[in-house]
Amino acid sequence: MSTAGRFDNTSVTNATNASAYGHHHGPIMNSNHGWEPARQAAARATNQKAPPILLADVSGNNAPPMPGAPLSTINSGVCDIVVDSTDIMCGTVFQAGNQQQVSLRRHCRQQHPGALTNPTTSNVTTAATVAGTNALRLWVRSGGWRDAHYVHEPGVGPVGGWLDTFATEMETLAANDATFAYLYGTRFHRADIRNPRKRRRSVEQVEKECRPSRPKGWEFL
Ligand SMILES: [Zn+2]
Repeated sequence: MSTAGRFDNTSVTNATNASAYGHHHGPIMNSNHGWEPARQAAARATNQKAPPILLADVSGNNAPPMPGAPLSTINSGVCDIVVDSTDIMCGTVFQAGNQQQVSLRRHCRQQHPGALTNPTTSNVTTAATVAGTNALRLWVRSGGWRDAHYVHEPGVGPVGGWLDTFATEMETLAANDATFAYLYGTRFHRADIRNPRKRRRSVEQVEKECRPSRPKGWEFL
C-alpha cells in the first residue's frame, strides 16, 4: 500500500477512540478525579507520608467510587489523562521499550488513581493493534495530537513511537502529495518540535521578547 493509502482510507477515517479495546489516546477523562485510596488517605490524615499506591489499593474492596476508563495496550505512550476541568492532559512521556506500558500504568496509578480500569493480562490481538493504530493515525491526521493541550509538553511523544512515526510520515507525504496536503494539511508534529529554536528559548528570553516596547519617557506620561 502506498504511504497515502496507509493514512487516507476509510479504516482510518472511521476509527474510533475509545474502540472496543479501550482508549488509544486522549483526552481520557478521570471519573475519579481527586479521589485518594483509603490506605494513602489514612496515612495522610495522621501526617505520615502516603505509601506508594499498589494495585490492591485500587482494586477489589478498595476499588474507586466510579469505574475507570479502559486503556488499550496500543496507546500513545503519553499520559493522556485529563488533569483538570478543561481538556488539559498530563503529558508525561514513556519511551518505547519493554517497560513502557508497565511504567505508564504505574504512573497513572500513582498520579491519577482510579482514572483507568486495571489492566488485563490478555495478549494483544491483531484486531486490537489494527483498531489502535488506525485511531492513532486519525488523531495525528486530524491535528488532534498536534494541537492537544498538555501540562507537560510531550514533544514528539515516545521517540520512534506511533505518534512520532506517523507525524513524520504524514509530513513527508504532504510535502510530496498535493492532494493529501489539501485534504489534511502539512503539519502533524506538535508546534514546539517544528520550531526547535523556539523550544530552546529560556524563560528570560521569552519574558524579554514579550515585554512591550515603550517609547522613551513612557514612565512619565
Ligand atoms: Zn499522568
